[in-house]
Amino acid sequence: MSRTTRIERYRNIGIMAHIDAGKTTLTERILYFTGRIHAMGEVHTGSTEMDWMVQEKLRGITITSAATTATWKPMRGPFAGLSHRINILDTPGHVDFTIEVERSLRVLDGAVAVFDASQGVEPQSETVWHQADRHGVPRIAFLNKMDKVGADFAMCLHSIRQRLDANPVPVQLPIGAGPEFRGLIDLLRMRAFFFDEETGESSEPREIPEPLRAEAETLRLRLIEACAEVESTLLQKYVEGRLEDITEEELELALRTGTLQRQLVPVLCGAAFKNKGVRTLLDGIINYLPAPSDVTRASRDEEPLCALVFKLMHDKAVGSIVFLRVYSGTLRTGMTVLNTRQQRRERVGRLMFMHANKREEVDEVHAGDICAALNLRGVRTGDTLCALEAPVVLETLHFPEPVIQLAVEARSRTDQQKMEEGLTRLAAEDPSLRVEVDPETGQQLLSGMGELHLEIVVDRLRTEYGVEASVGQPKVAWRETLRQRVRQEYSHIRQTGGPGQYAQVVMEVGPAPRGSGLVFVDETQGGVIPKEFIPAIE
Ligand code: GDP
Repeated sequence: MSRTTRIERYRNIGIMAHIDAGKTTLTERILYFTGRIHAMGEVHTGSTEMDWMVQEKLRGITITSAATTATWKPMRGPFAGLSHRINILDTPGHVDFTIEVERSLRVLDGAVAVFDASQGVEPQSETVWHQADRHGVPRIAFLNKMDKVGADFAMCLHSIRQRLDANPVPVQLPIGAGPEFRGLIDLLRMRAFFFDEETGESSEPREIPEPLRAEAETLRLRLIEACAEVESTLLQKYVEGRLEDITEEELELALRTGTLQRQLVPVLCGAAFKNKGVRTLLDGIINYLPAPSDVTRASRDEEPLCALVFKLMHDKAVGSIVFLRVYSGTLRTGMTVLNTRQQRRERVGRLMFMHANKREEVDEVHAGDICAALNLRGVRTGDTLCALEAPVVLETLHFPEPVIQLAVEARSRTDQQKMEEGLTRLAAEDPSLRVEVDPETGQQLLSGMGELHLEIVVDRLRTEYGVEASVGQPKVAWRETLRQRVRQEYSHIRQTGGPGQYAQVVMEVGPAPRGSGLVFVDETQGGVIPKEFIPAIE
């Protein structure tokens, strides 16, 4: 595959995980290895490159879907030696921010699902996995924290198969686990690589250690079988017993095809924190995940411009930043485009790629690109921008109903003005936030996806807009509607915790778990009241 087009060398990916699986650490290591940042910050000390906002630093939770651009040349596989652009859309792991995941999934082409190797599949990874299924996003899995006591490769594979109903296909086997995690066996090449304990660098390829040979051979056979189901030439060789004729390249390409068709999920592993397995994961991102041109909503340069606004952020220095995914055509600075949903024209100001440590200003961006635009004033999340002569509306983003409501009252008239201005801006950035005035009390009512979500809104009003306000108790929004929905739509509720308590639940429609969260088990009213629950339903 020597000649590839520009778009074929793009990977627009998300990294998705349950909170604490190591998504932030992994993202940061990826940015480090792709050469964009040179000092690795530690998570939870507030110096992580992807976490932009103060709240994230304080809470150690990644909230925004910041898009970051990096470059990588894979060492092995069909694209070896070719420079690729990876746009990473950061997706939050907290249940309150599932909406952010939803909007990232709308614009990315592939994803890395990160699991804590000692935990296997956790509730939020399940929710996000099913969201990704709905959006048809091809995935690879990364079993992180292989260095942690209790890390269990086989348990993780089993839990991915059972709980996610997926077809995990290991392409690596860890050498040891927990404190004994010392290297990786590459099951395509049947070679062992050992880590340097200090740097996490891999050794030159070596013979597979004898005690692991049988297991590696079994897993390789499984890998071949999974690939044979995808590629008929491999199937023929497999059926005829010509396993030694099967080449590394054939397996790589079959794995790619199987991933793109969502028939299988290549599984890699490592310990991001110790830099172990990050480089092979980067190779895996390029080798297995789709380019924009591989997915049905194909990107083309030669067609008229069409782009989707998927995120708005406010930056003190430059004002409003609009994140865009270009699907076709070229967007240039100074160009006038049509915002079809708002029925207005917009003049495009500055365009830039956001790297981890710098912003790169450019004159134009093309199909497949994810970029940031400044000074687009009337734009809201979910809007389509297109060429004046070819108006289209892209399928917009889907936002569920808010579940929690909070009353906020400004301390003074000045605070009231600042609050109105702040809320207008925050609601434009975040379509899952609803703002209305209580007709009886005149208080502002904020409705959102959970208590943490609204807490952060109130925090931002205070820190970014200087609003002093008193805040009421959070209440369940749309209580009746939700209660009915739970009764009607969830045929089965598995719950822990008794009446009068908050309980963690997994709710199911038929056999597949479709979401999870907190409910209040209310005996007197004979049912459950969702508290912080994000249903994974259309
Ligand atoms: P996120 O919530 O998914 O973004 O997870 P973080 O990246 O914030 O990581 C959660 C915790 O796990 C932090 O304390 C990390 O230092 C730790 N962690 C991340 N990667 C690893 C790893 O590979 N091994 C071990 N032992 N800990 C890790």
